[in-house]
Amino acid sequence: MPSKNKLSRRNFIKTAGAAGAGVVLSTKGYQAFANNELKVKSSNEKKVPTRLFGKTGVNVSSLALGGMFDIPSSQLLLKQALKWGVTYWDTAARYGGGRSEKGIGIYFKKNPQDRKKIFLVTKSDARDPEGMTKLLNRSLKRMNTSYIDLYLVHSLKRIDEINDQTKRWAHQAKAEKKIRFFGFSTHKNMVELLSEAAKLDWIDGIMTTYNFRLMQNPKMKAAVNACVNAGIGLTAMKTQGGGSIYSGSKAELKLAEHFLKTGFTDKQAKLKAVWDNRYISSICSQMPNITILMSNVSAAFDKTKLAKTELDLFRHYAEKTKSFYCEGCHKLCESTIAANIPISDIMRYLMYYNSYNDKTRAIRKFNKIPSEIRDQIKKTEYEKAEKKCPNQIAISKFMHMAKDILA
Ligand code: SF4
Repeated sequence: MPSKNKLSRRNFIKTAGAAGAGVVLSTKGYQAFANNELKVKSSNEKKVPTRLFGKTGVNVSSLALGGMFDIPSSQLLLKQALKWGVTYWDTAARYGGGRSEKGIGIYFKKNPQDRKKIFLVTKSDARDPEGMTKLLNRSLKRMNTSYIDLYLVHSLKRIDEINDQTKRWAHQAKAEKKIRFFGFSTHKNMVELLSEAAKLDWIDGIMTTYNFRLMQNPKMKAAVNACVNAGIGLTAMKTQGGGSIYSGSKAELKLAEHFLKTGFTDKQAKLKAVWDNRYISSICSQMPNITILMSNVSAAFDKTKLAKTELDLFRHYAEKTKSFYCEGCHKLCESTIAANIPISDIMRYLMYYNSYNDKTRAIRKFNKIPSEIRDQIKKTEYEKAEKKCPNQIAISKFMHMAKDILA
């Protein structure tokens, strides 16, 4: 393990190699990577750049520490993240059954002076005011803090899950100084949710799935712009654009080889593609170990912008592999089937299984689908759903695969 304080060029090569390029490289591609003059240089003094978070007036680190890992036993990682300027920490009441928030609480108990340096985000699974108050108070207690910087309704699917009652609750929580800002997170139905949120004057921030694939979608572009115009701060998540299975296409290999020749892994380049949109304030990334933290921080330190040809390469790659990627526009496909099968959720669980290699989470989430619905998965016809799918996903094949490997 390299020194935690130095991201030298040599260490970066090791880091990137250990983190993996995401695809199996040809000998030629690997040599080009290993011999290349890397553009990443860093020092102890360097910090991840910050960006303005919408109308809040607060500058947040452009790289956020996603808290879906064992934080109680990763205290040094939090310390190191802070040293490198990763001061936006994201968690949720439900992550790790509460261990994520408790881990942050352990950190703040030992390092109370660091609390004010952190932009702390957590999320509520409740929708009703009483439930939200209960969860907020529990989060405050777990994290040993008197306030949350940004409090999000977790995983919104429809805009009517929040309403005037929610607005009043948010105002009250702000008045009591328990939260500074309010918003929601979403990885489903994003276009509609972002567009509708832009019409509300009480949403400060949104954490949304956003990556090199979704940024090609004109409707998503318009929804993002609407939020920017409304002064809503945006955090991107699921920025690697991982598919429900590994496509194994030549386009994938070409992409990885190209970026390694320029001194980046394809994973780092995917972060840069998102940062290319200056209105995305931060990227929330799961960084459960120093290796991944280092790799992402290196990408953030480096000021090289992707060239137009490289953004075109991403566009080409996204088009070539779109039939492996679900955009979460669930109303299109799910409205065509009688059984209440959550197609887009199942596609996401396959992504956890195959792209994130997080098999436990994938299986746990799949098996939370009521058994009577799971029983319908292989009995259902998906022909109409496939016709509606903008990405021409072989939905039937994926649903059968999910039943076979996740059940
Ligand atoms: S399977 Fe297709 S239609 Fe359904 S949510 Fe995914 S991308 Fe949209």
